[in-house]
Amino acid sequence: MASLKIELPRSDNVLFVFYDFETTQVTKVTETATLHDTNLVCLQQYCSQCEMLADIDEDCERCGRRQHTFWDVPIGDLLSYLCEPRPWVSKVVAIAH
Ligand SMILES: [Zn+2]
Repeated sequence: MASLKIELPRSDNVLFVFYDFETTQVTKVTETATLHDTNLVCLQQYCSQCEMLADIDEDCERCGRRQHTFWDVPIGDLLSYLCEPRPWVSKVVAIAH
């Protein structure tokens, strides 16, 4: 009978992404509500190799540039970026803040 092991999940092959949407609210939807129209997405990321690097402007050997902004098609560009093929990544964890 195999013994029960309690192990934390490995995060060696995880890319953690923290993103934020900036929006305008100039379009009225109702008398009291406005549309939050995303005009900018900012993200920062880290992997197990760069999680201890304090300077976000310092590129990581594995995950590359660690800070990105998307202006043109902000949400579409964010989704495209998250779905880029990365051979070393088994999971991308994207967290809004
Ligand atoms: Zn990294």
